[in-house]
Amino acid sequence: MGNRWTPKWKKTEIDVDGKKYEVCYDEVTRLYACPMCSPVCLNGGVPDHGSYFFHQADLVKHIKAHKYSLWTKMRPSEVEEEEEEEESEED
Ligand SMILES: [Zn+2]
Repeated sequence: MGNRWTPKWKKTEIDVDGKKYEVCYDEVTRLYACPMCSPVCLNGGVPDHGSYFFHQADLVKHIKAHKYSLWTKMRPSEVEEEEEEEESEED
């Protein structure tokens, strides 16, 4: 938690198999972030975790992996479950 960087996200479009994807590019670290792993970056937020890439080509490969695997569609976010647990303790 203490080690947060402040990204300067810039939205940029990349081409994956002829389809345009809007992805995040951080001008501070010069990293590309996967918009599926960390969608908050598209709104200028700081993702807690995600997949970052130095090269656009690597991000393209990663997005292709999303397309061909079902895990993201089945489980958009696993983190939310933990938060729910905390709330039920107070009840
Ligand atoms: Zn991803």
